[in-house]
Amino acid sequence: MRSVTVVGGSLAGLSAVRALRAAGFDGRVTVLGDEVHRPYDRPPLSKELLSGRMSPADLALESEDEALDAEWRLGVRAIALHAADRAVELAGGGLVRSDGVVLATGARARTLPGIEGIPGVHTLRTLDDGLALAEELRPGRSLVVVGAGFIGAEVASTAHQLGLAVTVLEAQEVPMAGPLGDEMGRMLAALHHDNGVRLMCGVGIHAVHAGRHGVDRVELVGGRVLPADVVVVGVGAAPNVEWLERSGVEVANGVRCDSRGATSVPGVVAVGDCASWYDPVSGGHRRVEHWTGALERPAAAVATLLGRGATVGPPRPPYFWSDQYGRRIQFAGAADLADELSVEDGSLEERSFLAVYRRAGEPVAVLGVDRIRPFTRWRRRLDALARAA
Ligand code: FAD
Repeated sequence: MRSVTVVGGSLAGLSAVRALRAAGFDGRVTVLGDEVHRPYDRPPLSKELLSGRMSPADLALESEDEALDAEWRLGVRAIALHAADRAVELAGGGLVRSDGVVLATGARARTLPGIEGIPGVHTLRTLDDGLALAEELRPGRSLVVVGAGFIGAEVASTAHQLGLAVTVLEAQEVPMAGPLGDEMGRMLAALHHDNGVRLMCGVGIHAVHAGRHGVDRVELVGGRVLPADVVVVGVGAAPNVEWLERSGVEVANGVRCDSRGATSVPGVVAVGDCASWYDPVSGGHRRVEHWTGALERPAAAVATLLGRGATVGPPRPPYFWSDQYGRRIQFAGAADLADELSVEDGSLEERSFLAVYRRAGEPVAVLGVDRIRPFTRWRRRLDALARAA
């Protein structure tokens, strides 16, 4: 293998380039990214960038003295992959051929049909999204957040801290019940109430109305109307995989991969938010949309690409953190595997605790709220169990 093309110039793409060089690969590396920015960190977009504690320059993922010797082609969109010769076709013409391809195209924010384009209605995925939203979050304004998932909850928390009147709307009866289960979903919902942010669950949006200066109010199914100067739609993310449609690369909620990043096409691996790796612990595929997976898994995928996949162990269980209302929330593993949940340290009333999810007595996931040290110990235990699986 003398040349590799990495499609997607963010955390997973950059981590793949680093892993290639760390593995001694000295061939040509080309990175294609459709954003014009050098790789930047997304987690602060809903936290420090929005609150003004970080500037765009603080978000840079590369260090100044980093010499990766890669060709970065930014503002360039890949529109097709020709698997036979691993040629990536570019919007506007041109092909980039190489011996190996790393797919790292991430995900994009889902939107709600009919309300895109109304001034004051935002999604949050990119730096440009973050800067546009930050501009609008001024004290005294009314913000409606649609979706009480992690990004919605973080935006609500940051905006509340900035002095906006915040209402969060959630279609489900319990927010985050999917990743955390009902009981813990309810506990995180309580953080909004504790902090004076209104959370309305089980509600649907009928319409978003605009006045002369942009969004003006949100009308719920049933007729209730909420004033809104700003609306943030946080209803999840969709993997950027449509461009692979006729490539032969198997796609099912993301690029389907084995547990080492190999896709259905030889010489093509996938990493980060666009990839759905096989998870030996649960015996199914999971698309993990978390920072740490995008950072760590490219090393395994690159080893696969370089023909050293046999040396790679199983992936670590998914892990994410979230910062809401001054609390550090951490989660690792898969809550949906559990048949039992117990609080092992602290208490829900204090909003500071460690909860362990078990299946047949064995831990399968752990959730910590402001419990960093015990959480780290439990996470190591989950890692060890995954290695042994
Ligand atoms: P992305 O970061 O989505 O990057 C993919 C890149 O590929 C993008 O630049 C995209 O424009 C580009 N691209 C897409 N299609 C093409 C194409 N056809 N051609 C060329 N380029 C293309 N995770 C946590 O664990 N904790 C957190 O607290 C947390 N907070 C977050 C807050 C926000 C607001 C967001 C948006 C995400 C957060 N995450 C968090 C998730 C984390 O940021 C992602 O898991 C991570 O960014 C994934 O990296 P990636 O490189 O796979 O994908």
